[in-house]
Amino acid sequence: MSSFIAWLALAAAFGSVARARSVRVAVASGPSLTIRGAHLVARTTPGGPPVAVGRQVRLRSVGPLVSDGRQLAPVLLISDAAGARIDVNGVGLLGEVEVAATDRTLYAVDRVDLETYVASVVGSEMPPSWPMQALEAQAIAARTYALVRARTTRNQPFDVGAGVLSQVYRGAASLDRRSIAAARATRGEVLTFRGSLAQTYYFSSCTGRTESARAAFGVSIPYLVPTSCRGGGRAPTAHWTKRIALAELSRQLRSAQVIGDRLREISVVARTRTGRIARVKLVTRDGARNVSGAELRRLIGYQALPSLDARIVRRGRDLVFEGSGSGHAVGLCQWCARGRALAGESAAQILAQAYPGTRLTELR
Ligand SMILES: [Zn+2]
Repeated sequence: MSSFIAWLALAAAFGSVARARSVRVAVASGPSLTIRGAHLVARTTPGGPPVAVGRQVRLRSVGPLVSDGRQLAPVLLISDAAGARIDVNGVGLLGEVEVAATDRTLYAVDRVDLETYVASVVGSEMPPSWPMQALEAQAIAARTYALVRARTTRNQPFDVGAGVLSQVYRGAASLDRRSIAAARATRGEVLTFRGSLAQTYYFSSCTGRTESARAAFGVSIPYLVPTSCRGGGRAPTAHWTKRIALAELSRQLRSAQVIGDRLREISVVARTRTGRIARVKLVTRDGARNVSGAELRRLIGYQALPSLDARIVRRGRDLVFEGSGSGHAVGLCQWCARGRALAGESAAQILAQAYPGTRLTELR
């Protein structure tokens, strides 16, 4: 009962929007999960009879419970009867936990109210010490992004992940006084384009112009076009050099079955209008094939190749990537948002510049 009261208090703090909407965040997944609290209780249906499971529950996947092709218990709901914070694999959650089982994988899903989620994402994605206008722009972009995702995931066990491929979410650890203030100041505000929620992609830093969605993702989106950056040059990732042995890259590409034989050479064969790598040619004894820049980043890892605003240089047995910025470069540049906020721009001005043609709208 007390966890329900705690939830009510949070929801009341954020107003009616919070009561109406929640986000399901997959915070952990794997063949087993460890969930800790004070007095954990489990239910197989909302409002169903609670089973007390103590301070800790270790779940192991043996596959979903299926009878005649029908899944009997799609989720296990775990709450804390004492209102204590629930911890899953080290992440302090902010809502009720849903455990969903697919074949051999368990997902721990934090069902958290939208505004609490936004506050935590802001604290996870940006240092809370950044100017409030940048945090507010981040809050609006994060809220819009989550709602767009939630519309397409109704039949899936969760709406968003908790890592860099969706929005970074560290649960309770990232709830900060200033990130909460940024969520509250923008409560219910989203970006729309022609009456629909906008696709508010964002990324860490760049040093000149952002990239178009067409060049980065192969999809034309009218408000995801190159815009000028201000302040990205101050990011720690403004300029970087990464080195990888040609043999190591070869091994990675072969194990991903991108090439069949040893990699002899890699070169940039096309660049986007903003100068980023569009395609690279991979040369082996078998011949040559091209892959897109985005595919290359995915294959070798986002740490190994932080952005496509880069050149590739051969140095002996190594390849050296020299580049600027970090992330896919589409939409809002976080370091640019910081720079514009420091120059006195409001969150609305920052967003209008990052997503030209969109409107700031109040959720109904
Ligand atoms: Zn930038």
